[in-house]
Amino acid sequence: MRIANVDGRVTLVPEGIATIACERGGSVPGVDVERASGGRFGPDPQAVFDGWDRFDAWARTVDPAGGDVEVTADALGPVAPRPSQVFAVGLNYAAHVAETMREAPPSPSVFTKFPTCLAGPSAAVPLPPGSVDWEVELVVVVGRSARSVPREAAWRHVAGVAVGQDFSERDLQMSGTVPQFSLAKSYPGFGPVGPALVTVDELPDPDDLAIGCTVDGETMQDARTSMMIFDVPAIIEHLSAVLPLRPGDLIFTGTPAGVGMGRSPKRFLRAGEVVESRIEGIGCLVNRMVAAAG
Ligand code: ZN
Repeated sequence: MRIANVDGRVTLVPEGIATIACERGGSVPGVDVERASGGRFGPDPQAVFDGWDRFDAWARTVDPAGGDVEVTADALGPVAPRPSQVFAVGLNYAAHVAETMREAPPSPSVFTKFPTCLAGPSAAVPLPPGSVDWEVELVVVVGRSARSVPREAAWRHVAGVAVGQDFSERDLQMSGTVPQFSLAKSYPGFGPVGPALVTVDELPDPDDLAIGCTVDGETMQDARTSMMIFDVPAIIEHLSAVLPLRPGDLIFTGTPAGVGMGRSPKRFLRAGEVVESRIEGIGCLVNRMVAAAG
């Protein structure tokens, strides 16, 4: 099952959503959840996670290809627009740790992206002053409350996964006597997530997906999610041992090697450049960098 945020309304979409998002052209039919359910479920893409089991059971009885909504990539918003918590994990791929000249952390290195940074998969991203970098990441959306969940049970608490970009302004991130990850990764538009939420049963192996990123067509990142130091179950176990994960929360699970600050010479994003982030079986984000107004 795939669900998307279409002009702010939760919508069931077919597998072809991945193609139109990657190609940024065409459309697929979608099923408007509020109308198709006769009002049993509301239109809010965030509220759907509050009663995830009920929604999941209903949605699986619906044919997403039979919808009457014409869905284009430009109409898509972030799959979970107002999560109560957004977690992000740093330094979670060995080759990325090496390119940052740091040592691998003994446990997941966790920060937040403040939720106002969330954006749709085709959103234009205003460039703030400084050195803006790319980080393609698998994003996990929590479907069931999780507290002290062992790794064996972790995937059962996940509604689905999406592609995310953890855009990062490195000057602010590295300023101060300790790195300040959260603020530098939370400018408006710095958290596109999409194109749709894909439930885990749609993926042959949710722990091993090809993941990559290009800038103006040049490959910058090319890896597999199985290369994570702390995999999704380990991250959920670690987070939920400390605090409750709530339905609709997001977890950015870390980026593989190939970021701009790890290159020689360093390379950062310029207005007009297009960042394409892709994960096998899920689809693409295609985000154009634009000069910030004023
Ligand atoms: Zn990141």
